Amino acid sequence: MGETGAPRRYGEIASFHAHIYYDPLATRGEAEQLRQWIGERFSVTLGRWHDVKVGPHHQAMYQVAFAKEVFAELVPWLMLNHGSLSVLVHPNTTNPRRDHLADPLWIGQPLGVHGDELPEQAEREEPLQPNTQPTLRP
Ligand code: ZN
Repeated sequence: MGETGAPRRYGEIASFHAHIYYDPLATRGEAEQLRQWIGERFSVTLGRWHDVKVGPHHQAMYQVAFAKEVFAELVPWLMLNHGSLSVLVHPNTTNPRRDHLADPLWIGQPLGVHGDELPEQAEREEPLQPNTQPTLRP
């Protein structure tokens, strides 16, 4: 992991995801509130609700995809507003397994990630077209 040679470059990162985890029975309402607040304040791509576990994820969740330029306001704002929810923030490079397992940050209680379901080589995920129309300042 970079003990020798040059450090990895910021340019490796194409975009970011925040995965917002919730319990469909206990905290879906909180997740809905957070989703609405995010959409009102940030230019991001809100993903589908996954009320059952999908892919490497440990719990029900939805994804928030965002450009690097959004990180500096969105991530600190999530630190203040995640409530009881766990949030996984990870970069999107060409190595999804490393992005999710070795290089993410957690807001709130960390959960497991099933890394065996993630490839070690993939296309970089460039920023998606935002699907929100923010009207409020964070
Ligand atoms: Zn992701």
